[in-house]
Amino acid sequence: MKTIIWYGNDLRVDDHLPLETALRHDDPVEGHYFIRAEELIENRFGVTPIGPRRLQFLYESLEDLSGSLNALGIPLYVHVGHPLDILDHTDRLLFQRSLGYNERSREQDVTAKWKGEWHAFDGFTLYPRAEIPFERMPFLFTEFRKAVEPDARPERPIDRKCEGEARSIEFPVAYERPERDTRTAFPFRGGERAGRARLAAYLNGPVRTYKETRNGFGVDDSSKLSAYLANGSLSPRRVLHELETHERENGANESTYWLYFELLWREFFQWVALEQGVRLFRAQGIRSKEKSWRVDADVIERWQTGQTGVLFVDAFMRELNATGWMSNRGRQIVASYFTKELGQDWRIGAAYFEANLIDYDVASNYGNWAYQAGVGNDSRDRRFNVSRQQEIYDPTGAFRNTWL
Ligand SMILES: Cc1cc2nc3c(=O)[nH]c(=O)nc-3n(C[C@H](O)[C@H](O)[C@H](O)COP(=O)(O)OP(=O)(O)OC[C@H]3O[C@@H](n4cnc5c(N)ncnc54)[C@H](O)[C@@H]3O)c2cc1C
Repeated sequence: MKTIIWYGNDLRVDDHLPLETALRHDDPVEGHYFIRAEELIENRFGVTPIGPRRLQFLYESLEDLSGSLNALGIPLYVHVGHPLDILDHTDRLLFQRSLGYNERSREQDVTAKWKGEWHAFDGFTLYPRAEIPFERMPFLFTEFRKAVEPDARPERPIDRKCEGEARSIEFPVAYERPERDTRTAFPFRGGERAGRARLAAYLNGPVRTYKETRNGFGVDDSSKLSAYLANGSLSPRRVLHELETHERENGANESTYWLYFELLWREFFQWVALEQGVRLFRAQGIRSKEKSWRVDADVIERWQTGQTGVLFVDAFMRELNATGWMSNRGRQIVASYFTKELGQDWRIGAAYFEANLIDYDVASNYGNWAYQAGVGNDSRDRRFNVSRQQEIYDPTGAFRNTWL
């Protein structure tokens, strides 16, 4: 019998329960990663869910993981397809649990038919489900935060260093490698090593002023950890543990607290996604709020390509297209503009982000989009005034000049 680690959004060796469990057995261990075939073909919203920049980041992350696993004597295989079509069902299967609807459906499908033993582990969230003190998730973030913050304690991350070096892999998807744009807010490179390096660099200074800078567009204005958290190159418990170590050694301040506060937003959307399942993707959202969304192909295309004529919106969209990245403030502004000013179906905007953001995460993306569209976890139906936002965040036009 073999032990199979079925990798998903947990592309790391540090703080990884399936790996630690596998290493306790004497059997040979293999790692397998599966890309869903439907993620490589155009969907009903007119986009291919994993666009080239996401593929490139995934490829780099897998190369990095392959090197670390190789140092432990574990080969890593990457497939397009379904685990049941490729793996031997009698082996021992270990994996990290997902919270998104499609991912969970696939896990349920696999475990229902699996003939050997299998074990699923938590690891994508800060806290295990048992630490979340609700039968039903509260509708508002504040309620969630106030209940979780005082008592819930994440487990300590399990230390494991990356040994070896990134190693080339057989990648089963042909794609055109996107060029790196030198204007990027952060030169993202995929992989656990790059994620750990970014975490260390950010905690070694920039975090001290995070609360004041986090709405900015520059390299150290925010942590740029999202892409590593999204595909699990970094564990959220590791991020919090290193942040707390930093606070013990250097003192806590409002900014160090605020990074934790933002991690709680991530946590909130994860548990909402788990509870809401397929409802997260409905036009009327989790609030069942009837809105008459429009679908105007020309309008949508102009928004996607950064040609609406509203320069601040266009600059953000061009940044996304050129780099796979956009700041949180930019995401709020362009999502509000798409849904509130243009009145377009929010799911088309969310699907476009899904294809292009290298930090795409199902819960954070669809949760935030629904929130901005007024059909998510927000009792108000707020709208961003683009001119006002531009005056506050780009008074000199430097950001617009960079991208237009
Ligand atoms: C319309 C829209 C779509 C979004 N789509 C995604 C997505 O697909 N993937 C994703 O990771 N984030 C998404 N976000 C949330 C947020 O914009 C990004 O997490 C953030 O910009 C990432 O940059 P950072 O790592 O420098 O964040 P920082 O400001 O440094 O925050 C630290 C971490 O906290 C978490 N975080 C911060 N803000 C949020 C938030 N509003 N919701 C959830 N988690 C948060 C992230 O993990 C982030 O890495 C979206 C926001 C909006 C408004």
